[in-house]
Amino acid sequence: MNVTPATARRDTWTSLGAFCRTLFAMLGRRVLVALLLSAALGLTEGAGFLLLIPMLTAVGVDTGSGSVGMLASAISRAFSALHLTPSLVTALFAYAAVITVQTTVSRWQVITVLSVELHFVAGIRKRLYAAVARARWQYLARSRASNIAQVLTNEADRVGIATYQVLQLIVHLCVSTVYLALALRLSATLTIGVMLTGGAVLIALQRRIGASRRQGERTSKATEHLFTAAVEHVAALRIAKSYGAEERHVASLAAVADTVADTQIEAIRISAGSRSWFEVGGVMALSLLLWIGLRVLQLPAGAVMLLLYVYSRIMPRLSAFQQALQDVAYYLPAFAATERLRIEAEREAEPVRDGADPVIFRRHIRLDHVTFVHDEGGGGVREITVDIPFGSTAAILGPSGAGKSTLADLLCGLYRPQRGTMTVDDTAIDDRHLSGWKAQIGYVNQDTFLFNTSVRANLLWACPDATDDGIRDALSLAAAEFVLDLPGGLDAELGDRGQRLSGGERQRLALARALLRKPKLLLLDEATSALDAANEQRILDAIRRLHGTMTVVLITHRTSAARDADTIYLLEDGHLAASGTWTTLADRLGNPVNALIPAHEV
Ligand code: ADP
Repeated sequence: MNVTPATARRDTWTSLGAFCRTLFAMLGRRVLVALLLSAALGLTEGAGFLLLIPMLTAVGVDTGSGSVGMLASAISRAFSALHLTPSLVTALFAYAAVITVQTTVSRWQVITVLSVELHFVAGIRKRLYAAVARARWQYLARSRASNIAQVLTNEADRVGIATYQVLQLIVHLCVSTVYLALALRLSATLTIGVMLTGGAVLIALQRRIGASRRQGERTSKATEHLFTAAVEHVAALRIAKSYGAEERHVASLAAVADTVADTQIEAIRISAGSRSWFEVGGVMALSLLLWIGLRVLQLPAGAVMLLLYVYSRIMPRLSAFQQALQDVAYYLPAFAATERLRIEAEREAEPVRDGADPVIFRRHIRLDHVTFVHDEGGGGVREITVDIPFGSTAAILGPSGAGKSTLADLLCGLYRPQRGTMTVDDTAIDDRHLSGWKAQIGYVNQDTFLFNTSVRANLLWACPDATDDGIRDALSLAAAEFVLDLPGGLDAELGDRGQRLSGGERQRLALARALLRKPKLLLLDEATSALDAANEQRILDAIRRLHGTMTVVLITHRTSAARDADTIYLLEDGHLAASGTWTTLADRLGNPVNALIPAHEV
């Protein structure tokens, strides 16, 4: 879609409105303090300026006539109210006092603004991650992990810069307003002239706000590409090296990095252009106005000096104001990106998280005519009815794509049946029971995820209050005691995704982690598929030892893993094709392996 500068400008104002509402809703009090300190900063600047008048008087500049005279007599009145005699020394002391106050206010203001910025970024990150973590798996499964990570990190940082710039806008406004009010007292005609000129320059530069916003959107897109590329390339380094494709990866990442640099340089170009316009235009306008003041309006020298001072303070503020406005336009798309993802994730939130009802599992799990079809592609499972008694071992067998993982995800509550019901003993599992049900499940799949930390921390992640004895029992059940022999034992570090261990060791450790929870249902989704025969046998032996103590559901496309199960469910193309023990199935179908599973998958 081609966004015109006018639309981009309108979008900036709309999202600035949404941004300010969110900022106030999250940090109202702190923002208010920051605003008050900004106003105080403006006032101290004004007070410092006013003190120049008695100083000029003291060094002999005529400040008694015209508008300066009015200000000068107001200051003398203020001095006498404080029982001070207006002189160079008292004026200098007062000036030093005002500057001290101003520096203190400025320090508070900087700290408050930064704390608003950082708390806002933290707040945005926290609520965004909460929304993502609470979203349904169905939504998360089709989202890009790198995109979520990018929004949580880069884009949230850019929101911080936008926050800082919005608060800077307010400071510039406060200080400029105070100076303009004083300048109006000194010479209304000239100041209106300055305001009209400044206003005209700001309006002329409005186009640049639209351009900055579009550039900000491009930067968001470019950094998203960079993030995705970086995450994917680093994750794929092993395969890239084995295919000798590193140089191709280097070239493609370099291209993305260049695009990011180019978009950022373009943004700087737009912003630097505005600044030079302001500087050149400002000097020309100032010279013209001074000439008018001196020659046409014949203002006294004191008034002209003060006006020169005021204008030389206002001009950089106006330039900084325009700069901050463009920066806000440039960084606000990041806020839009964080909000878009949050709203999308919240729309996909898992229903009802509080008030979890307990689930008692002593007799059986029953799926009754359960159907679940994925949003895209129409794959899934249809009309599945199974009854798995407590303590038994069930194997769900079938070729790739038959719907086994979908069935596992239904059993552990990641997916909810679109039709049909799931019952545990007498409880029909609905949203209120999910957390009670999940607490009773141990789950291991093919892509074992181990965190880059110690063995102990990886195990405690599943069951934070487990004791060392509990850990040893779980390790022994899972035939994973080898970890105790690692240097450091339970405190041995596992490396990125547990890469210090072999595939079989990782699987056994993952099984120990699942068993540490003392689950009532142990779900193993292709947990042995990637293992060699010896390692698979170790895990199958461990599972056999668990028989009767917990229910085991073994999802596999390998018949070797399914032979010992109490019941084998054969899935084909999302349907339950047959069920029974190995022997009964063999009697009915011949070898169930030959009946359903392609020879190369056995
Ligand atoms: P299996 O575990 O038996 O290999 P799956 O349950 O993973 O089978 O997949 C069953 C069908 O559903 C397949 O056709 C697969 O393409 C599809 N499928 C699985 N997950 C998704 C998903 N997240 N989105 C869309 N389709 C999916």
